[in-house]
Amino acid sequence: MNNNTLNDDIINEIEALVRQLNDYNYSYHVLDSPKVSDETYDKLFRQLKHLEELHGYVHPSSPTLRVGGAPLEKFAKSAHRQPMLSLDDTFSFDEVREFDKRIKKLLATTTEVTYTVEPKYDGLAIELTYKNGLFIKGATRGDGYTGEEVSSNIRTIRDIPFTFQDTQEIDIRGEIYIEIEAFRLLNEERLHEQLPTFANPRNAAAGSVRQLDSRMTASRNLKAVFYGVGYLQGAGFATQDELITWLHSMGFPIPTMFKVVPSIEDAILHIMEIGRLRDTLPFETDGVVIKVNDFTQRDQLGYKTRGPRWAIAYKFKAHKAVTVIKDITISVGRTGTLTPVAILEPVKIAGVTVARSTLHNWEDIRRKDIRIGDSVEVERAGDVIPRVIRVLPEKRIDNTMEFLVPEKCPACGARVIQDEGEAAFRCIGLNCPAQLHQRLIHFASRQAFNIDGLGEKVIELFLRKGLIHDFAGIFSLDIQTVQGLPGLGKKSALNLLNAIQKSKDITLTRFLYALGIRHAGEYVTKLISVKFQTLEELYHITPQRLIEIKQLGEKIANSIAQFFSDDKNLTTLNTLLSLGITISNPDYKQEAVQSKNPSKNPSKNPFEGLTFVVTGTLPVQRATVEHYIEQKGGHITSSISQKTNFVVAGINPGSKYDKAKALAIKIITYDELLQM
Ligand code: NAD
Repeated sequence: MNNNTLNDDIINEIEALVRQLNDYNYSYHVLDSPKVSDETYDKLFRQLKHLEELHGYVHPSSPTLRVGGAPLEKFAKSAHRQPMLSLDDTFSFDEVREFDKRIKKLLATTTEVTYTVEPKYDGLAIELTYKNGLFIKGATRGDGYTGEEVSSNIRTIRDIPFTFQDTQEIDIRGEIYIEIEAFRLLNEERLHEQLPTFANPRNAAAGSVRQLDSRMTASRNLKAVFYGVGYLQGAGFATQDELITWLHSMGFPIPTMFKVVPSIEDAILHIMEIGRLRDTLPFETDGVVIKVNDFTQRDQLGYKTRGPRWAIAYKFKAHKAVTVIKDITISVGRTGTLTPVAILEPVKIAGVTVARSTLHNWEDIRRKDIRIGDSVEVERAGDVIPRVIRVLPEKRIDNTMEFLVPEKCPACGARVIQDEGEAAFRCIGLNCPAQLHQRLIHFASRQAFNIDGLGEKVIELFLRKGLIHDFAGIFSLDIQTVQGLPGLGKKSALNLLNAIQKSKDITLTRFLYALGIRHAGEYVTKLISVKFQTLEELYHITPQRLIEIKQLGEKIANSIAQFFSDDKNLTTLNTLLSLGITISNPDYKQEAVQSKNPSKNPSKNPFEGLTFVVTGTLPVQRATVEHYIEQKGGHITSSISQKTNFVVAGINPGSKYDKAKALAIKIITYDELLQM
């Protein structure tokens, strides 16, 4: 940009950046689910700032004027008595020196300024109010002026003192964070539960504090550190040093490696020291905060819109390395989703050897043009989970290999399909070992085979002991095998076997539901049973025949038809029938389902004719919410389209939330759903 006069092109460029950054901000600060890396965000932010300064044009909603994001509606709001602002960033020591020059100029001094240097904890900013040494409330930073009141969640964090010897009223500021090891365990657990993982420790900490259920916060092993003060009644502190010493004496955890330094050059030396030890610290730090130590000088320097003039953050570079993709394998998740995983030439990134990296899905592979044999740049995002950022085209060798979607599931050999509008590919194998645990729980559940005593734990036990390998295995269990297993005395073993025997008489609706076919919940399976009398009529059925049922859309019809087109699945069904399962169909040709018309029976089926997408972490399991909707006549789809009526969004709803917003689809919370 050579010319700094303002014209339409420049305004458009600035406004496009404002929109883009605000969108990233919303995902990051409000949804705790970043869309891009911090580096990408910071680069765009600096670009915008540069354009604004060059052309003297700042859009009123520019992120350079704002802090964080608006508080979430689900929390009570809490106004800060003093604004809780952000910090300006620097990325080089020269910029740190320029900060020092600005300070000296504003203070009209040539003598060295005393600074403090503290690691920048990557967590969620928090303000705690104490009266007479008693904890009163805790609030997030929010938009800097109003935060979310999260007192009951704060009470679950062991690091935080709730009383101390003091008589004044004070707002103490700090950061809630999660240690890297706790973060790793949390994500592992979430992977196991098929829940979306947190992108980095900051988002994990933020998502854990901004929970409606305090028990959830309590389970997350959060830590806290304190380094600031907002409103203060009575005598204040003279320096940051004094404040930190006082906080420490009152039992508040304070920043590790906190140091008072006599000049900016000493500050730089200490930044280098923190940088050197960064990878040995148990928490994630994305930089260092340099603050003017003297509070009188701070008062003289004052504030800008987004942050103080007396402090600055020095940001570390993300941990990256270049390595080679030796191979790509596929991992099959518990719900059948296929995830490509890159096997890397092991490489050390910030002290940790990285040998594998998720490639998310084939769309991502295509977009980044990743091939086996490529040299790639790998980043430990949030400095924990490695991800491939880009291919280095200049290093591409001749015989790289594209990685295509397999036709058959690598775990069971069944067909692999892609649902319309979704990036992921899935295995539809009924007996896929990767999915068996989940499928068996569903199969035995109350609305399906309703086998009393065959719950999650018992199924896990049977699988671990190798007693069952498929659905049919349930019906081959006998007293000799079952009796004496942990938790299964003679009586409960007999009860279980009786329940299995009893479950063999089943309705077609329940049987179909038990198969766990995607998009075929109770409502859909009932519709099918009304139209088709026997199970066999569905073998090799076409989507067209299914669409004759007016309530069924293309997506559901395709999913059901795909299931019944897989010969392995049909063999499994025949095996089940050969074991004495008798399917009756009392629903056949009864017009009961069709008559469930909202106008005739609105209270029973308030969701009739409405399509829902459920996304994010909800207070109860997603399957429960989906059942609930289906029971009330609603229809569930997994992806958002113009046909979607409502999106039920929980915490970290991800891209679906954005898509719903873009298509102006009504987004509701779980509580709102229940009210409906
Ligand atoms: P920030 O995180 O860069 O710095 C300010 C915050 O640092 C303070 O509010 C405080 O909470 C925290 N902090 C930690 N240790 C501290 C200490 N010792 N002393 C003082 N403060 C300390 O600023 P921000 O406004 O919270 O967030 C902006 C940053 O968030 C951006 O620079 C970017 O990296 C990231 N971001 C990323 C995305 C994305 O999509 N990836 C989007 C928006 C923002």
